[in-house]
Amino acid sequence: MSAEDRPKPIHVQRFQNEPNTDFSRAENRAEMKQALKDVESDFGADYPVNIDGKAQDCRAHIVSRNPSDKETVVGTVASAGIEQAEEAIEAAQRAWSQWRKVPADHRAEYLELIATGIRNRRFELAALLVLECGKPWKDADAEVSEAIDFCQYYSLAMRDLVSELRCDYPGEENTLCYRSRGVTVVIAPWNFPLAILTGMTAAALVTGNTVVMKPAEQSSIVAAKLMEIARDAGLPTGVLNFLPGNGEEIGPALVSSPDVDVIAFTGSQEVGLSINELAAKTDPRQVSVKQVIAEMGGKNAIIVDDDADLDDAVQGVIDSAFGYAGQKCSACSRVIVLKNTYDAFVERLVNAVESLVVGPASDPGVDFGPVIEQEAYDRISDYIEVGAEECETLVAIDLSDRKDEGFYIGPHVFNILEEDSRVAQDEIFGPILAVMKARDLDHAFKLANGTQYALTGGIYSRSPKNLERAREEFLVGNLYLNRGITGAIVQRHPFGGFRMSGIGTKAGGPDYLLQFMLPVNITENTMRRGFAPSADNE
Ligand code: NAD
Repeated sequence: MSAEDRPKPIHVQRFQNEPNTDFSRAENRAEMKQALKDVESDFGADYPVNIDGKAQDCRAHIVSRNPSDKETVVGTVASAGIEQAEEAIEAAQRAWSQWRKVPADHRAEYLELIATGIRNRRFELAALLVLECGKPWKDADAEVSEAIDFCQYYSLAMRDLVSELRCDYPGEENTLCYRSRGVTVVIAPWNFPLAILTGMTAAALVTGNTVVMKPAEQSSIVAAKLMEIARDAGLPTGVLNFLPGNGEEIGPALVSSPDVDVIAFTGSQEVGLSINELAAKTDPRQVSVKQVIAEMGGKNAIIVDDDADLDDAVQGVIDSAFGYAGQKCSACSRVIVLKNTYDAFVERLVNAVESLVVGPASDPGVDFGPVIEQEAYDRISDYIEVGAEECETLVAIDLSDRKDEGFYIGPHVFNILEEDSRVAQDEIFGPILAVMKARDLDHAFKLANGTQYALTGGIYSRSPKNLERAREEFLVGNLYLNRGITGAIVQRHPFGGFRMSGIGTKAGGPDYLLQFMLPVNITENTMRRGFAPSADNE
């Protein structure tokens, strides 16, 4: 049976992706503008921690600012300490004793209610993504759709997993079924603060686990809105606990707790590996080996073959490299161009990059907005200096005159002279693109695979033979042929990398939920020799 013959499970066949908003329609543009105003009128509000169904304030607070206009405070969020982390784990553990017994169908219905809650507030959430995270309109809107998709998809996928797998023999019944694992700590990044947080949380909940939800500091208000939506869906007390806070402080306490069974993490390689290591240390009070699900960074490449359609390739590379200022884990940060097409490609690329418009994310006319915060601004600026020293500069748009306004960094393109230079190897997570020249296709694959990552990758080629080689030789979790490499859509493009990009799981795909559960096989000898009498069967 070939791969495409593998049938889709019954319930998942009904899945349909949520449509994005059509901003070419005046009424949608007007609604988005109004939502931006409404969110702005709420600026300065405080958001609490929520443990065991109770809102709590904390001694410390996270001040969330608009990266497009850094003096503007979007709001403040209570910042949980270690004591609250422990309280949240206890609450989740108590709630698990009941939640695990709730029928899977019923748990799936909660996800549908959360999906409806997100749908009803889609413009508000998109506006908040623009204002808290500097996401351009279209990216923000697509992220809301993705959050809805995760809820709908996992709710259907769970319904498929409920049915037990039977393998009976005469005189023996065998049943394979799934059980929840227990308390799940969800630790999310700021770059997809709604979709990724929703996806990991929804997967844990629908599989019967209870959750301590720890969002990224930079996007805590988006997360607070998700918590409001989940609360309105009526989840039982303690099943979902909202624990915003400083990751370096409460993260290790959450990960090392003997009462935590699963850690679902998405973020940087550095933090992901530290979590993996800490979770592997066994506490004598622990009753299960912790399951770590870690989705980490990338240094993704697009290969441009000698015969590629250059109009398509330039557009695809630009969208993939500079969308959301290069702050997508799937972003293209290296373009590897075959030598015969190198000059023509670079000339077009440079012209196109120089025309990109950078400005406040709330302006629908910009190509991309600011980077997320000062720390990112400084780190990316350092890499620009390294690039200027170690590489040939092809494009350098200097926006430092706007640094008092927001965290704006113009697009930069460097021609790589040494394959192992930092600009060619490190995940920079900003609007910086490295261009590399390849002698031939063998060399192109060697360069593409020549980092420790394996997340996304792509090739533009008109040669069926070369596309076939890419399928075999390009080591990435998500490979794209003749298109951009960002914008994975739930079910159509299950997403996740391997090597040092992740443990190899696929969010939004058919296997994802299995990691949150334990398979149990029950065998019964049915060659009965009579039942013992009891009050029930007498
Ligand atoms: P990050 O690793 O800095 O932070 C992620 C989360 O970890 C945050 O909630 C943070 O508070 C928490 N954290 C920080 N230190 C911790 C510790 N010691 N213990 C436990 N938790 C801790 O990442 P980020 O800057 O928020 O996100 C950007 C990174 O995420 C990039 O590397 C990007 O490639 C990656 N990412 C990967 C995917 C994927 O699917 N592979 C998707 C999105 C983002």
